[in-house]
Amino acid sequence: MKVLITGGCGFIGSHLAEKLLSIGHEVYVIDDLSTGSIDNIKHFRANSKFHLNIDTVTNKKLLSSIVDKVDLIYHLAAAVGVQLVVKHPVRTIETNVHGTEAVLEEALRGNKKVLIASTSEVYGKSKKIPYNENHNLLIGSPTFGRWGYACSKALDEFLAMAYWKEKKLPIVITRFFNTIGPRQTGQYGMVVPTFTKQALSGKPITVYGDGKQSRCFTYVGDVINAIIALMENDKAVGEIFNIGSTEEISIENLAKKIKQLANSSSKIVHIPYDQAYEHGFEDMRRRIPDISKLSRTLSEMGDFPKHGLDETLKLIIKIF
Ligand code: UDP
Repeated sequence: MKVLITGGCGFIGSHLAEKLLSIGHEVYVIDDLSTGSIDNIKHFRANSKFHLNIDTVTNKKLLSSIVDKVDLIYHLAAAVGVQLVVKHPVRTIETNVHGTEAVLEEALRGNKKVLIASTSEVYGKSKKIPYNENHNLLIGSPTFGRWGYACSKALDEFLAMAYWKEKKLPIVITRFFNTIGPRQTGQYGMVVPTFTKQALSGKPITVYGDGKQSRCFTYVGDVINAIIALMENDKAVGEIFNIGSTEEISIENLAKKIKQLANSSSKIVHIPYDQAYEHGFEDMRRRIPDISKLSRTLSEMGDFPKHGLDETLKLIIKIF
């Protein structure tokens, strides 16, 4: 099969490209390298079934010519990372909204099935744990940049749903929960690569706030397998799926765990949110997915995820 991955030089996109190539597919990538990097794809760049286009998905002519060649589209291109989102709110909203708009328009023209990668950020400040796909989204005030990101991704979801309902374009929406793994960079704020880098270099490990906030971290390989399986499953069309582990850990304990696994002598320090992000920054205290819908839909895949946090962290530290 031939597939297009937008954002194929990013962290998740490059793992997806590598996996699809390894099972014999032909992969076309569009990536403007705004947060992605050539480094992420260098080990398979020479593969004759890999076609790289360094450009934006809003280049209609290019997008259109590739959509005509492929059978499926994975739309992963987006502005990501809380640090980046807070620093560049205009770029964040415009990239996410205009990019998805362009991809859906072209997918419809070519009648190609498309996966829209969304995020657990859309649940916003909701305290109704675990998060279920049917829950209300509780997005905070436009005063804070973080919610602009959540809102832009929520709008992407609404638009994709509208294409499905009104025009019968086959779409699948996936909400990723703190995906981690090799090649992820801490440059845009992500906590695991940030702590790993700090621990391995003996620098202070920077826990924001009181560190009691918690997350569920999921191995990228498990996320990739789930999205490939969802795209092969007719029952997934027109549906939204949480994709994440349910193994919860506080950020304070994550810092201790990474320090210990990296055999590091780094100090663990606390930094107020205002200093780390922006004045008045709002963080969610807990974020846990309800993955019963994913498990039901992909019952033949067995347990999800296959990898626990400890083994994933060990792998990340080993090849960092
Ligand atoms: N965080 C932290 N130190 C860092 C980076 C992040 O304590 O150097 C915290 C952040 O405030 C959040 C959690 O770790 O509570 C996860 O942050 P990340 O940006 O990785 O993902 P988020 O869940 O916020 O989207």
